[in-house]
Amino acid sequence: MPSLKNIISKLCHSPRQDTHTPTRPAVSPALPVSSVTTIPAAKKAVKSKKKTKTKAKVAKMKISSRECNGDDGEVDDSHSRSPSPDPTIETWQMETDAVTVIEKQDKLSAPIKNDIEQNSMVKLASKLNGAVVSLKKAPSKEKPNKDQLFMTALHTTNPFKTIATRKESSPSLPESLTSCLRSSLFPRVPPYLKFISHDETIPLKIPTAIQKHLKWKLTTITPIVVKKTLTNSGFRLVKSECDTAECPQEETVDWIGIWGKHMKSIMFRAIKDGQKMNHFPGTFQIGRKDRLWRNLQKLASKYGVAEFGIMPKTYVLPHDLKILKHDWEKYAANNERWIIKPPASARGTGIKVVSRWTQIPKKKPVVVQRYVSKPYLINGSKFDLRLYVLVTSVHPLRIYLYKDGLARFASVKYNDELSSLNDRYMHLTNYSINRLSKNYTPNEDFAACEGHKWTLQTLFQYLKTEQNVDINALWESIKDLVIKTIIAGEASISSLTKANITSRYNCYELFGIDVLLDEDLKPWLLEVNISPSLHSASPLDIHVKGPLVAAVLNAAQFHVPRAEQAGLPYDSRLYTVYLSKEERDKHIIYTNMEDRDLYLRDILSTLTPDDVRHLLQAEDELTQSGALQRVFPTRHSHKYLPYLAGPRYYNRLFDAWETRYADDREPGVELLRALCDMGYHLQTPGVPLKRAAAQQLDRCRMTWTRRRRPPRRGPPCPRSRRSGPLRSRSGPSLPQAPRAPAQTRCPARRLSRRPPRCSPAPSAAPAASPSPSPPSPSPSSSPSPPPPSPPRTDLNMNECDEKEHC
Ligand code: ADP
Repeated sequence: MPSLKNIISKLCHSPRQDTHTPTRPAVSPALPVSSVTTIPAAKKAVKSKKKTKTKAKVAKMKISSRECNGDDGEVDDSHSRSPSPDPTIETWQMETDAVTVIEKQDKLSAPIKNDIEQNSMVKLASKLNGAVVSLKKAPSKEKPNKDQLFMTALHTTNPFKTIATRKESSPSLPESLTSCLRSSLFPRVPPYLKFISHDETIPLKIPTAIQKHLKWKLTTITPIVVKKTLTNSGFRLVKSECDTAECPQEETVDWIGIWGKHMKSIMFRAIKDGQKMNHFPGTFQIGRKDRLWRNLQKLASKYGVAEFGIMPKTYVLPHDLKILKHDWEKYAANNERWIIKPPASARGTGIKVVSRWTQIPKKKPVVVQRYVSKPYLINGSKFDLRLYVLVTSVHPLRIYLYKDGLARFASVKYNDELSSLNDRYMHLTNYSINRLSKNYTPNEDFAACEGHKWTLQTLFQYLKTEQNVDINALWESIKDLVIKTIIAGEASISSLTKANITSRYNCYELFGIDVLLDEDLKPWLLEVNISPSLHSASPLDIHVKGPLVAAVLNAAQFHVPRAEQAGLPYDSRLYTVYLSKEERDKHIIYTNMEDRDLYLRDILSTLTPDDVRHLLQAEDELTQSGALQRVFPTRHSHKYLPYLAGPRYYNRLFDAWETRYADDREPGVELLRALCDMGYHLQTPGVPLKRAAAQQLDRCRMTWTRRRRPPRRGPPCPRSRRSGPLRSRSGPSLPQAPRAPAQTRCPARRLSRRPPRCSPAPSAAPAASPSPSPPSPSPSSSPSPPPPSPPRTDLNMNECDEKEHC
């Protein structure tokens, strides 16, 4: 039971408990959606009564959701866990919304429920901090004022500019936490974890209450620089599928981040709320060379080659063999060169430059591409660019381009004679190939134009000063290529994400995009790597990739999970994908609007709670951009919107937002702050029951961590070493059969794997899954990466760029 001192302290440190339950902003009657979001004044009195009931209901639901622990599949997961006081961090509590406050009150002991005592506490609290705090909510006498303010939310007006911004509007963290957490720009938004560089000599100081939650699941491809960044930032790296005495399986369950291989879209359903993975479903649509080409080809045929001819013409064999033959003959007179590549490989594997028809495999699945035979040369050598591109959200699309990168040179000087086509050191620029050449010179100095690898920054400097190149124009054309490349996969990624992800928190992705400059400095897209190598053995590599990793993790915005103890909870409501009826209506209206001017004029006038959630995340994210330049959305990126598969609501919302606030963000931020201050952004609809049940089913189906066996009756497996009670995270210790360490598992154990308890009826199985079903799933709360080396299917993709050992 919380002590009175604690409660008073809470009151003193929660300056916004006086805020009433947020009401929806009303809108100008002139606006097309006014009927959707305006709360008619006459209904308000009734509503305020109803609200009290609803709150009580929600509070009940919360409690019951905890009790059933999500097992029955009908838990309303869109509601957050509320924080509880942490003895180690008493001085700061995240502000909670009105609902949580009520729930807390419910939990307090009976005397505290007593109004008189409450009021005396309020008085005491008011005396202590000088703030007007009222637990007993003043019936909405003041509400209309705020609503009226919302009503003035016309096209160019910030309705809150008349409200003096309160100093404490952005929660300030106590000093003990500022080293490891960054507060949001907005009240009632939990802070984000800070990631520091891999080479920081003093690791972050993190209170134990937080640190115990910082678990990162290791995979076989987690790069060293990522591991260093994580350990410096206070994370514990837990092994995948580990099940030994030192690292029992339970320990690996509650990880909050993973840096692993891409996996099949359906596997993403196993990612839990509060966990983040470095991929989106469906990115193989740009990660495979054949799919990338097909997607770009569609756009080129629709919008013209002038816009989408960003990749050298490609033929996907054997399907395109006839067309290739036709074009081959057409260009034969020019002694055209072609390059043959496997459709889903990397590091130059299986690549050949050819000029004779007989060299073309007629039946094998390969891509054949026109060879860019006049590349831009520096000191006579060909080079390509490695760009790093971060996508933090697909709908709305948010793309960042890292300002640094790599220029990788071929180790033999270039000529375009037919006789030299076999020289891979001349025609291919992959590091993994050229490092084997006797001519290869490493470049240890990131600032030097030496050797066969330069940083992008050094290259640009060189082009500017030595070659008089307009690098601003070059950067613009690179940005254009990057945006179009991501747009090429947007439709599929977006629909697979929608189908398989139930929290917008779950995904972000870093891409490595390879580009070749031709003699006119036109950038040509060569390929997209969905797991770009972050191998950083040389000082030059680490100079580029070290800060990149920290920047990516910071922009991905991790919260402290389950840290009720620390009062910093991850709040799942902020990332819900579910919309209220009003929100859905607004989406329909603005998605169907044909005229950009119309939506620009109106879409921001009626911000819904869901709009606010999206906008605030993007604003918080933008504060982390630093070396990552946001290239989409920007003030000018609306020109790309027509290229998307269809009009998309959130992209329009951001178009309007950027058009209005790109040059001066503060009024926009202030508007969002005021809305968050009221807890408006925390209004979420419940998870539809059907969907919740389906999700639960999916989770059972998709997790494939080993199922815990019931206690064994017979003698323990002879090779088993471990015995003793099963360590349970939350409940009491359970009696457990002796367990063998993972490596020495008894074969009988493997054979005895059973289908999961809630294994789906055939009709409930995801019929959409185009791929072979995953390895036998078992009900566990933790997803694991795919099993080792799954057979390559057409859904496998360019999984790994250059491996750690390259
Ligand atoms: P991988 O995924 O195996 O690295 P890439 O498509 O990146 O395959 O090609 C490897 C190298 O081959 C590139 O770095 C580039 O130097 C060269 N290359 C690829 N495609 C072309 C092309 N169309 N024209 C000229 N050179 C190319």
